[in-house]
Amino acid sequence: MAHAVRIIMLGRQGAGKGTQCVRLADEFGAPHISTGEMLRAAVRKDSALGRAVKAVLDKGELVNDELMISLVQGRIGEEDARMSGYILDGFPRTVAQAQAFDHISEVRPTDLVIDLEVKRDLVLSRLSSRRTCEQCQANYVATGAESSPWTCEKCGGTVVQRADDTPEAINHRLDLYDAMTSPLISYYKDQNKLAVVDGLGTPDEVFARLRTAVAGIKNR
Ligand SMILES: [Zn+2]
Repeated sequence: MAHAVRIIMLGRQGAGKGTQCVRLADEFGAPHISTGEMLRAAVRKDSALGRAVKAVLDKGELVNDELMISLVQGRIGEEDARMSGYILDGFPRTVAQAQAFDHISEVRPTDLVIDLEVKRDLVLSRLSSRRTCEQCQANYVATGAESSPWTCEKCGGTVVQRADDTPEAINHRLDLYDAMTSPLISYYKDQNKLAVVDGLGTPDEVFARLRTAVAGIKNR
């Protein structure tokens, strides 16, 4: 049986993480676990939990550690992740979350932590022009020439700017990221699990670098 691949993907929002995680998941046969998508799914259900999460996300804040950890613990305990590993996207965000994750994943520890590196001013301009289909969550890049309302090419849904994609919310998230997530880089570097991958270039170029980094796991 092929060895499961357990990867944590770090990087600023807008670094192209989501796209690359989908490709890695496809390449290595491991589920892409996006905590952002799990939270948005909870919001769409409009449960008490979903409404609480929505209030936090609309302000550009982070959901508290306890909730995030239990959410992720439940997901990595599912059969696909136990058998095939995971490409974990959006978690951990803090050293406290990373320590908790080390504890809950002790039996099947993470193989590799990738820092997908893209400069802050570049991700800010990418995120400000991002538009998302309300229905299927497909992402688009606004050029200013779009008709209004903008219809999704994939499902016919309405394409909008997400409430958490305004410049204010984006800047706030990037500040939080720099302050809270950057220490994770040192944390994983000390564990000898970190690979820094340049996120600049075409999706194919970036993916080739990521594949090389993951192939390096097997040479340890
Ligand atoms: Zn759509």
